[in-house]
Amino acid sequence: MSERKLLIAMAKGRIMEDALPLLAQAGITPAEDLKKSRKLIVDTSDPGVGLVIIRASDVPTYVGYGAADLGITGKDVLMEYAGNDLYEPLDLGIARCRLAVAGPVGAAPATDRLRVATKYPNITRRYFAARGIQAEVIKLYGSMELAPLVGLADKIVDLVDTGNTLKANGLVAEETICDISSRLIVNKAAMKIRHARIQHLIEVLRTAVAGAGSSAA
Ligand code: AMP
Repeated sequence: MSERKLLIAMAKGRIMEDALPLLAQAGITPAEDLKKSRKLIVDTSDPGVGLVIIRASDVPTYVGYGAADLGITGKDVLMEYAGNDLYEPLDLGIARCRLAVAGPVGAAPATDRLRVATKYPNITRRYFAARGIQAEVIKLYGSMELAPLVGLADKIVDLVDTGNTLKANGLVAEETICDISSRLIVNKAAMKIRHARIQHLIEVLRTAVAGAGSSAA
């Protein structure tokens, strides 16, 4: 009896670029060039493993529903996700950045009756509520940096890496909410039913991550 392939849902873009070398060390390389291919489901060098290439914010949904067994996406996306149907067994240590509150250079720090634009309304509400600051959260889908420039919001909550994007728009990071990296996630039911295969993959990736960490040091 042939078992269904393990499906890994992978966030496209920066995360995918950093994740592919780790997967390669686990013997998983895509059967086609993902930069050129428009395919959404891709075979790999491991006949038992397929990849689905999707937006980072959709990865927990696919894995949570069990449509994919495993996933790779950012901690920011996982913090924003409301489900509890996932395990998060491994920090892959890739696509590192931080989630920060940012505002115009020289602006007053966050106080009450603040308007904050973000892709992360749940995280943002929790963050300001924990500080006793009443914030009106405005959900945007991209280019958050624009919002303070045109008076849509006082502050933004966004990912910051080098800070160049903020700087180019006259903004500065004021507070770090948390450090971010990409994580391996697993559907809870799949972890039970396909335990040996998934556990093996986790351990191989754990070794690859440890190797990547020590060679970067
Ligand atoms: P930077 O100009 O280097 O601070 O990068 C900031 C821009 O890149 C923002 O638009 C972020 O949303 C995006 N960004 C930074 N780091 C990451 C990451 N690890 N994953 C996805 N997007 C990122």
